Amino acid sequence: MSNAPYNGYSWQQRSRIIPAHRKLTGRNQPFEAEPCAMCGDPHRPPGEWHSEDYSEPYAFQPPQSYPLCKPCHARLHKRFNALPGEWELFCLHVEAGGYGSEFVQLRTLPERRALGEEIASGHKVELPIIRARSPGPYWWRSLTLDPESLLAPWARPRPLRPRPDVAAFRLAFEEAGLSDRDSAFLRVHANAPRRTATMRMLAQEAMGKDDPKTANLLYGKLAGRLTSLLQWKPDLRNDGSPVWMSLLAEGWYPPDREYEWTMVPSAAEAARSLVVGKSA
Ligand SMILES: [Zn+2]
Repeated sequence: MSNAPYNGYSWQQRSRIIPAHRKLTGRNQPFEAEPCAMCGDPHRPPGEWHSEDYSEPYAFQPPQSYPLCKPCHARLHKRFNALPGEWELFCLHVEAGGYGSEFVQLRTLPERRALGEEIASGHKVELPIIRARSPGPYWWRSLTLDPESLLAPWARPRPLRPRPDVAAFRLAFEEAGLSDRDSAFLRVHANAPRRTATMRMLAQEAMGKDDPKTANLLYGKLAGRLTSLLQWKPDLRNDGSPVWMSLLAEGWYPPDREYEWTMVPSAAEAARSLVVGKSA
């Protein structure tokens, strides 16, 4: 495992998965004797496997974790820095039944470059079938190519720590006696692209003014009330004070932008079903 972040998980968080697997199963690695989940190569080094999801509790089966061969694993991680069309070409190769290891054996680098450029310029490239394989959809087709996904919480399939489920959030929203403004915060946040918003965006859209400080105060208070109702343990700052927003969202500082909050999926799903304009 490389010392790099992936899908919003730090390498430290990622590195805990191997000891966790060992502790849980007593075995050194999952997927023993299973073929590569991408190309189907049966001769996969036993220790080679991949996770899309490093949230706890860790999961050691698809769609969270997959057995992969070395070339597929390396290409998957290198897709962010690959030449235009290169990752797509590799996917087409695998989908034509090629093993990961055969990618560089079957075509020279200039041939692969030329095909990648064709793909990048929008031309349809079809590769001859190497082995019959089951039709898609294939899981690797839903992987993002956005390099921000390496660090951003929106890329995590699950929040780092488990959150209350949709039904629990729905009940808490009912019991909290939400004001129109409370509901607006929740709905605007849930419907933001990638469930992600700054306090400035929330202030503009839920309060109609450019006042991130007040939004932070009011939305934070609402999160605090919901945290008590749900009896959830919030994240703590270094000084031990609670981060009330941590019930509803995971935050991060993107380079060159304001602090962003990504609403957790269960809260967002519950918030999307809030009735518009329903007063407390
Ligand atoms: Zn493979």
